[in-house]
Amino acid sequence: MKILNIVGARPNFIKVAPLHKAFRTYPAIESKIVHTGQHYDTQLSDIFFHQLDLPQPDYQLNVCPETPTRQTADILLKFEQVLLTEQPDWILVVGDVTSTLACALAASQAGVCIAHVEAGLRSGDRQMPEERNRTITDALAELLFVTEPAGLHNLRREGISDGRVHFVGNVMIDTLAQYRQKANELDTVGAMGLISGSYVLMTMHRPSNVDSEEGLNRILKIVEETACRKTVLFSLHPRTKASLLRNGLMMRLMAIPNVRLLEPQGYLEFLNLMEHATAIITDSGGIQEETTYLNVPCLTFRNSTERPVTVELGTNHLLADLNPETVRQKLTEILEGRAKMGSVPPLWDGQTAGRIAEIMHNTPIRIKKA
Ligand code: UDP
Repeated sequence: MKILNIVGARPNFIKVAPLHKAFRTYPAIESKIVHTGQHYDTQLSDIFFHQLDLPQPDYQLNVCPETPTRQTADILLKFEQVLLTEQPDWILVVGDVTSTLACALAASQAGVCIAHVEAGLRSGDRQMPEERNRTITDALAELLFVTEPAGLHNLRREGISDGRVHFVGNVMIDTLAQYRQKANELDTVGAMGLISGSYVLMTMHRPSNVDSEEGLNRILKIVEETACRKTVLFSLHPRTKASLLRNGLMMRLMAIPNVRLLEPQGYLEFLNLMEHATAIITDSGGIQEETTYLNVPCLTFRNSTERPVTVELGTNHLLADLNPETVRQKLTEILEGRAKMGSVPPLWDGQTAGRIAEIMHNTPIRIKKA
C-alpha cells in the first residue's frame, strides 16, 4: 500500500512527522512525503524537518507564494503529475491549510482515496479560509480521523457515514510528548536569560487579525496592556511582520517597553517557551491544543474556536469580543493564580499516529484508481 503524505505549512510538518514514522513500522506500507512549498523558508519549514527527524520530501512542488486561489491552481496542476507518476493508494492530508484542500481535490479527481487527519473540526465561521478548507476536505475524504468528540458530532450532522470516521486522538500531541524532554534539555528559556513563569508568550497570524490596520491596532493594545505587567515574547509570523511594516506600525510595536520580538521559532525552542510561559496569547489553532496538554493558560484572540474541548476541558479562554479589557481581566486571574486548571482530553496520549497507521493498514481500498 502506497501513501503520499502531504505537507505544506508549519503545522503540517508537526502532524505528519509521527504519522510517517508510524507507517514505516509496517513493511506493507510505502510512505512518501510531498511538500507543496506553501511555506518554504528555513524558519517555517526546513528547521522542522531537521528537528522532527523527518526525511527530505520525496517531492517538492515549489508552488507560487501568491494568493490562495493561485496557490490552489498551481498545486492542482503539479500534484496531478505526482499522482500520475506515483499511482498511490492513499493520500493523507492534515489540518486545514490551502495545500490540504488542493491536494484532496486533485486526488479526488484522480480517484485516489483520501485520509484526513484532524477531521470534523468546525468553528462555524465560514469567513475563515481554514473553515472552508476543512469542510470541503471532509466531504471528499474516505477516512476521517477525529481529534475530539465535537468532531464526531459535526461530521454526523453533515451526513458523513460513521463507518468512515474514527476518533483517534491528536497527532500534534504525539509530537509534543515525544519531543518535550529534548526541548527542555535545549533550555531556550535559560538561553534567553529568562526564568520559568516570568513572561507571556504571543503569536498572531490569522488574516482576520493581522491583515488590516484595525486588527493590528487591537493587537498592539493587547501587547501594551500585557507588557505593563509581564515581559512579552512575541514570535512574529512573516504575515504579521509584513502587515506591520505595510501599515507603518512596526516602530510602534518596537517602542513598547518590556517586549521582545522574536523571529518564528523552531519547534523545540517554541515548545520550551510554551511550557514555561505564565500564559500564551494567540490566534493559532495548534497552540490552543498544545497549551491544554501542557496545562498553560491560553487566551485565544478569536470569536470562535473549532477546538471546543480546549475550552471545555483544557486551559483555553476565548476572548470573544477581542477586547483589551477582557485580556486585562483574564491576565489578572492568571497572575493571581486563579486560572482554571485543565485536564488532558481523551486519547491525547501520544499514541494517535499508531492508531491511524493500524486503521489504514487494515482498510481495504474502496475506490479504483482512475
Ligand atoms: N510554532 C513554532 N514556532 C513558533 C510559533 C509556533 O514551532 O514560533 C508551532 C506551535 O508550537 C504549533 C504550530 O507551530 O505546533 C502551530 O502553527 P501555526 O500557529 O502556524 O498554525 P495553526 O495551528 O494556527 O494552523
